[in-house]
Parts: sequence; structure tokens; C-alpha cells
Amino acid sequence: MSDSKPHAVLIPSPVQGHINPLLKLAKLLHLRGFHITFVNTEYNHKRLLKSRAPNAFDDLTDFSFETIPDGLTPTDGDGDVSQDIYALCKSIRKNFLQPFRELLARLNDSATSGLIPPVTCIVSDITMSFTIQAAEELSLPLVFFNPASACMFLTCIHFSTLLDKGLIPLKDKSYLTNGYLDTKVDCIPGLENFRLKDLPDFIRITDPNDSIIEFIIEGAGTAHKDSAFIFNTSDELEKDVINVLSTKFPSIYAIGPLSSFLNQSPQNHLASLSTNLWKEDTKCLDWLESKEPRSVVYVNFGSTTVMTTEKLLEFAWGLANSKQHFLWIIRPDLVIGGSLVLSSEFKNEISDRGLIAGWCPQEQVLNHPSIGGFLTHCGWNSTTESICAGVPMLCWPFIADQPTNCRIICNEWEIGMEVDTNVKREEVEKLVNELMVGENGKKMRQKAIELKKKAEEDTRPGGCSYINLEKVIKEVLLK
Ligand code: UDP
Repeated sequence: MSDSKPHAVLIPSPVQGHINPLLKLAKLLHLRGFHITFVNTEYNHKRLLKSRAPNAFDDLTDFSFETIPDGLTPTDGDGDVSQDIYALCKSIRKNFLQPFRELLARLNDSATSGLIPPVTCIVSDITMSFTIQAAEELSLPLVFFNPASACMFLTCIHFSTLLDKGLIPLKDKSYLTNGYLDTKVDCIPGLENFRLKDLPDFIRITDPNDSIIEFIIEGAGTAHKDSAFIFNTSDELEKDVINVLSTKFPSIYAIGPLSSFLNQSPQNHLASLSTNLWKEDTKCLDWLESKEPRSVVYVNFGSTTVMTTEKLLEFAWGLANSKQHFLWIIRPDLVIGGSLVLSSEFKNEISDRGLIAGWCPQEQVLNHPSIGGFLTHCGWNSTTESICAGVPMLCWPFIADQPTNCRIICNEWEIGMEVDTNVKREEVEKLVNELMVGENGKKMRQKAIELKKKAEEDTRPGGCSYINLEKVIKEVLLK
């Protein structure tokens, strides 16, 4: 029994890109002496258990997983696939508070019997605002975790500014393609030189009654200036935006990149604990062993991107024609409307130059010496994980904050090149070669390695993120 330990309950938004970074924070808090309860939805936890050994979560000390229902009927997300994100968002607002309250009560009951320490603080994903009420009812300190960039946060809190200025909604769908999205955004301090197309895709609405308006404005309302926020970025990585935000929100703690933080932390029994919802194919690591240093392009579009067969074939033939080696992760639900069949002509063409798998341990792959570049959809986790591995990128942003991340990667940090939304095989071939063996690729790799070093400095003792983690623990979580 460890009754003197602080006990943090961490609750992510129930999607892969939010669960993974919060687990990293859980590990950091655990290393600093916290007892951890990590809350998954029943649906996701079933998937976790399905994709690993039955005893994978046994024998964890001072760390346990708990579950709450997600309020969706099984048909809203049946089996081993990402659930409908809009249905989930609605359900979070409507259905999550009560089971979360009951879970906290159960945990405190167990504490009364001396089995675990009583709950002392809550770390909640920023989209799970029902936790405010639960924390208030028990007078517990609460900190919001933002798994996206500071830039994304800034855009969300300025969503109503864009509406007030009449920049959105777009007049009609033709504005998506008539050059209007090239309009400079000059009404958000901190985003100088950004164009509308660089902002998250949810600003591209045409209907003034679109339900996303209410959702974002309500979400932004959660960002009360007195709330405390943890960001998976660093004061250095997004300096200008963090400076702007800090004037309005005094309690922002940028403690990232979390991957770099963990890479430099002492190993413990939680080091290999992962929350990947798909079964990892580790054979690709053996395959990478057989390849030359920096000779393989890693291709992965994350957990939610989907594409048509036509687009996938453009990527496939662009990669094949580049003659570079590639490791391509094709999730079972990546292709819209069904399974993928790559022709024997394609397979003969790539032979041992290419390997296709369904899901992989991404950070191990990115850190493998054979990886020379990353063709990515620019999710914020993939972006920061690539930085922490010093790997330059080709960017094909799809939804949400990905266009914003692409802008930062290509224009601010200059460690990536953008692939056109309407992807064509000739462009893929050319950019892959530029990334792997061209002059641009060389420069970008150099800059990526510099950024990796900077991230390491930020997260080691004395670095800005390291100091911020100590601060948020002292000023909020242990208050
Ligand atoms: N990931 C992984 N293996 C894969 C694909 C993704 O481990 O084959 C992990 C990746 O390391 C990251 C997360 O899943 O932590 C994806 O988050 P990201 O923000 O990049 O994209 P999203 O899935 O949210 O679009």
C-alpha cells in the first residue's frame, strides 16, 4: 500500500492521437511519485486488451486502467476501427459526466479500505470539459491537457474572431477551390503570414448554422483564463504563439515534446507500456535492420485519415517509381469503401524495396537508423515524434489541425515539403527523391537534427519544459 502518494486520474479524449500523449504524461507523473489511474472507454480498452498479451497490464505498480462506457451503441463503432468522431464528441458532452463521477467515488471507496491512495487531482483532455464539474464537486485541482499544438489552441480561441470579421463561413463551396483560402489571416496576433488554408480544416464551413460552430465556441469557452493547461510543445518550439497565449492565459505549462522527455527519463517498469489500439507489427523492425542507414522512407497517415483507392494508388506508384526503399503502414480502415488490393505488377515492381504493414510501433520505427524521411499526414504526435527522432518530412495534411502543423513544419521550422492535396504519382516520386537524396532533403535533415537537439535541451533538467513540468506539479497538481 502507498497511502502517502498523490493520486492523479488522467482521462484522454477516446481517440488514438489523444490517448498516446496522455499516457506519456502519465508515465512522467508516475516517475515523479504519483499513483496513476488512466481512464479509457470500455470500447477502447477492449481493443487494447485484444491487441496484446492477456497479462500485459497485470503487475503494474501504482498504475491502473479503469473504464467508463462511451454512450454509443455498438454499431457506432463496431470492432477494431476508429469510431465516428462526431458521434463521440456529442456523446462526451451528453453521457460521460455521470460514469466519471461514479468512477471517482469508486476509487475513493477503495482508498477508504486502504487499497489505493485517495484521488488528489485530475488531468483531463482539453475536449473533456465535463471534468470541470466532477473536479469542483470533490474540490480537486484540475489541469487540462492539450495534445495538439499551441497554434491550434490559438486558432480555436479565435474562432469567433474569424466569424466576426466575416472571414468565415465561406460564401459557398466554390470558395474552397477559387483561391479564397489563400487570404491572409491578419486578425490573430501570433499567426502573422498564415493563410486561411493554414488554419484547422473546421474553419472551412459554408453553413452559418453548422453544428461545429457551437462545438468549437463552447470548447473555447472551456479555456477560461484561470484554468491551468499542459501543452505537448515547448516554449522554444512555438515561441511566438506561446508568448501571445501567455499574456491571456497565465497558467500554460508547455512541457513537450513528451517523446523527448521520456527518451531521457530513467527506464522503469512502465517504459514499454503502450496504448496503441491496433496490433503492432514488429517484424518491420527486423526488415529495417537489413537496410542501409537513412535509406528508407517511412509512410504513415495516422489513425483517422482515410483516402480513396485512386489516391492510394498515386502514392503507391509514386513510391514505387522513386526507386527508394519504403515502409508503408496501411491501416485496415485506411481505404474508403473497402479493402485494398495492390496488383501483382506493383508487388513485382517493389519486390524487397517496399514493406507494407497494418500498424507499427511508430516511435521505434522513426528512431531506427535506417529511416531517412517520413511521409506523414502531420498529426501533432507524428510531427513531434519525427522531430524527436531528427527525421525530415513530406506532408500530406488531411483534417483537423494537420494543415496548421504542415505550415509550421514547412515554413517555420523548414523541415518538410508539402504534397498537393490532389496527390499525383509524379509529384510523389519527385518529392520522395528530393527528401531522400536531394539537396533540400539534406538541408531539412540538418535542421531536423538541430530541432531534435533543441527538444532534448528543453526536456532535460534545467530546460524550459523540464522546469514547466516541475512547476505544474507544484503549482497545480499538488496544491
Ligand atoms: N501510431 C503508431 N503506429 C502506427 C500509426 C500511429 O504507433 O502505425 C501512433 C503514433 O506514434 C502517434 C499516434 O499513433 O502517437 C497518432 O497520432 P497523430 O497525432 O500523429 O495522428 P492521428 O492518429 O491523431 O491522426
